[in-house]
Amino acid sequence: MAKANAAKKSSPSKSTAKTQAAQYHNFINGQWVPAASGATFENRNPADTRDLVGTFADSAAEDVDRAVAAAREAYPSWRLYPAPKRAELVFKVADILVRRKDEISRDMTREMGKVLKETGGDTQEAIDMAYFVAGEGRRLYGHTTTSELKNKFAMSVRDSVGVCGLITPWNFPIAIPSWKILPAILAGNTVVIKPAEDTPLSVVNFVKAFEEAGLPAGVVNMVTGFGATAGAPLIKHPTVRVVSFTGSTATGRVISTETAALGKRCSLEMGGKNCIIVMDDANLDLAVEGALWGAFGTSGQRCTASSRMIVHKKVVKKFTAALAERAKGLRVGPGLDLKNEVGPVINQKQMEKILGYIEIGKTKDKAKLMSGGERLTEGDLKHGYFIAPTVFGDVAPNAVIAQEEIFGPVTSVITCDSFENAIEIANGVEYGLSASIYTADVNRAFTAMRDLQTGICYVNAPTIGAEVHLPFGGTKGTGNGHREGGIEAFEIFTEWKSLYIDYSGVLQKAQIED
Ligand code: ADP
Repeated sequence: MAKANAAKKSSPSKSTAKTQAAQYHNFINGQWVPAASGATFENRNPADTRDLVGTFADSAAEDVDRAVAAAREAYPSWRLYPAPKRAELVFKVADILVRRKDEISRDMTREMGKVLKETGGDTQEAIDMAYFVAGEGRRLYGHTTTSELKNKFAMSVRDSVGVCGLITPWNFPIAIPSWKILPAILAGNTVVIKPAEDTPLSVVNFVKAFEEAGLPAGVVNMVTGFGATAGAPLIKHPTVRVVSFTGSTATGRVISTETAALGKRCSLEMGGKNCIIVMDDANLDLAVEGALWGAFGTSGQRCTASSRMIVHKKVVKKFTAALAERAKGLRVGPGLDLKNEVGPVINQKQMEKILGYIEIGKTKDKAKLMSGGERLTEGDLKHGYFIAPTVFGDVAPNAVIAQEEIFGPVTSVITCDSFENAIEIANGVEYGLSASIYTADVNRAFTAMRDLQTGICYVNAPTIGAEVHLPFGGTKGTGNGHREGGIEAFEIFTEWKSLYIDYSGVLQKAQIED
């Protein structure tokens, strides 16, 4: 029972809670149920840890077993329910999210911290995904093709896989769950999701939309809790056929090894060290504007955040000064206050990690601090995890802060000598998620699109801003070859089945001559 009421995000004493917090349960087989042990954990507002958002089920293997059993039970009939009918339910989910968008976004800002405009975008992404995926209910195309034999017909179709275990992070609390749950169930699978322990309320809100839409019990199940106690039993459960994970590289690698040993399908979406290249012919104002949004939107806590600026030596001074000036002008504060532009970071541990990198930047890397570089504690900000938007100049391409994922409001400006040098620096990291180039030269733009080793490339726009109908994911250390979003998302959640229909009336043998 040591974990009962384990505090999360900080260690404020319980008596500081402003109001009686709501209690939230797991969603298993269409019912809201507490953890079998009765244990709960707290979810606090990272902008003000005196604000207790709610308590949530601190689930363990027993709860995961129940949720997986419900998903297994629901699977045979859901699989046979026609895909266009499944799609109708997904359309309903989209409509419910549209209606509840403001309320869902407010809850999200309260538990995650990013400003309301951005949580509105997060919810909108789930809505877009729902409409997009629902359209696939009348497609899910396979191929019809020829046969090498006479009077024989051949085609391929997609089939569902079974029970999917979904593990999601806190930075896109509803968008990322939507990338996983929606294509999985549209394809005829059933799911158990374990949301991040920092942002369970957003997934509770999402699950309520499935409940209201009238999905059969057991198709979507949710267990809240921590990685080691709720996530690990889910990914290892023998009934779970597919694991889809988004989160840190360290955890992703563990999950990759464990699922491989158990022979499961696994899609991984992990870190990034994304760059914006700014050439000497770029529209500099546009590049600064993009850099500001790419580096400091969501307090830099996006896997696609622009954490490196690779800037041509002819314009680097001007660019860095302008970016630092704009960074200093950003209004940092609680995301529920509409005048603020940058919210807190997610929790104490993350804040300390980011401040640690800032220290490395100043000392070991000997970079030039141009803006920020500290925690903000003025007035009520001291109750949250606020870090001033930080720009480092004169950063070496191989500096620690230019190589490792910081996941916070910190960006490094690196000087390049030429276009070729910029591409070399851009590719000189272990990750390959997103990259961008600002240039007016169409030849450079196309060469960059060809040579940047990332899954996503932008021209004259920052590294963030993916749309749901295009594949999302990265190369190298970012992932394991899978993509979310787009129809490519169905590759992980479906099996291909090849069908041969012989109407010749005789035994025909492929590849064998009579
Ligand atoms: P972060 O450091 O950003 O919290 P994590 O990769 O640890 O990133 O967390 C992402 C998700 O993975 C969360 O839902 C977390 O609970 C879950 N998780 C962490 N460790 C494990 C694990 N060993 N097995 C399954 N899920 C895990």
